Amino acid sequence: MEGQDRQDRGAGALSTLPAPIETDALVIGAGPVGLFQAFQLGLLEIPCHIVDALPAAGGQCVQLYGDKPIYDIPGIPATSGHGLATALLEQLAPLKPSFHFEQQVASLERQPDQRLLLRTSRGTGFLVKTVFIAAGVGAFVPKRIALEDIQRFEGTALFYHPESLERFDGQAVVVNGGDDAALATALALVGRARQVTLVHRRDGFQADEGLVARMRAAVAEGSLRFAVGQPTAFDGQALQIATPDAQTLSLPLDALVACLGISPRLGPIADWGLDLVRKQIPVDTERFQTREPGVFAVGDINTYPGKKKLIVCGFHEATLAAWGATEIVFPGKAVPLQYTTTSTRLHQLLGVG
Ligand SMILES: Cc1cc2nc3c(=O)[nH]c(=O)nc-3n(C[C@H](O)[C@H](O)[C@H](O)COP(=O)(O)OP(=O)(O)OC[C@H]3O[C@@H](n4cnc5c(N)ncnc54)[C@H](O)[C@@H]3O)c2cc1C
Repeated sequence: MEGQDRQDRGAGALSTLPAPIETDALVIGAGPVGLFQAFQLGLLEIPCHIVDALPAAGGQCVQLYGDKPIYDIPGIPATSGHGLATALLEQLAPLKPSFHFEQQVASLERQPDQRLLLRTSRGTGFLVKTVFIAAGVGAFVPKRIALEDIQRFEGTALFYHPESLERFDGQAVVVNGGDDAALATALALVGRARQVTLVHRRDGFQADEGLVARMRAAVAEGSLRFAVGQPTAFDGQALQIATPDAQTLSLPLDALVACLGISPRLGPIADWGLDLVRKQIPVDTERFQTREPGVFAVGDINTYPGKKKLIVCGFHEATLAAWGATEIVFPGKAVPLQYTTTSTRLHQLLGVG
């Protein structure tokens, strides 16, 4: 945990940041376990916000195996990564948590009143009584193009996995990558961008066959250009690539869109003083609390004797962690266990019956 001294030294900088959102709980990560964590908190009437580095919920289920089947979710004989994320969001919707996407939680500091102040990469602040780290194997962030200084063009001439393509209307765009996202992005730009060039290091793709066929057809009809090569330089106006026959090709452009895949990065969580063991956060098995009171860790990010990285285990951990938080959010109050089957209060919260 970052110390008070660091907070004081940074007071000047902090004063320019927006006032933090004050709430009871912050869930870091909107993977399956983070989503179920928010559901369990909602049933206990603990308001929460959820932050994820990705633009949408689902964590590994959506990012790594969205269309593949899952057969070991209790009571659901078969679903998919996407299916599970959609079902969890639907289950959670009546409890109305607030989502904050495309930002990574960067810092965690204990305040003099014992609450926890967290800041995201976008400067959003949260002042909370409890934190639930459901960060899985880390924040999923786009893989960057490995060229020196290229980051200075991000947001102006260089875009990683853009959510919306409207801004490229009428532009000359180079798309770099060879997976589903790269091909789908290049094809989606055809017709809206003035010129689209797909650049990949080889003439072979790790992508859906249908997408590859559509891409080849677009190249054959001349609506999409394709160049094989590795980026060697970028100045915001042209991308230079080294071709397999050792030539240098310069591709003038208005925008470079890179879809090189995403990979998890544990990132700042490693600096929060939680005594990580092999990149995982040790917790107790009664509340799934870390060494810091009020900071819980659930799902793939935690470790304890017998830990199994399975979704069902994360659901159990999230349930007990939510109950553990009641002691902090409602001190001195006995919170009764209620069944969703019979509790009229829970029916009200869930908007049923
Ligand atoms: C190919 C594959 C198949 C699998 N099949 C199964 C299966 O059949 N059954 C099963 O039970 N399990 C399966 N698993 C494991 C399962 O996917 C994981 O156990 C589960 O996703 C863990 O959920 P989680 O919510 O803890 O973490 P994740 O799903 O990893 O989600 C964590 C989220 O936290 C976000 N995050 C991390 N750090 C930050 C930060 N600092 N700020 C903001 N956001 C952050 C990430 O972007 C991510 O969205 C499979 C895994 C893989 C890779």
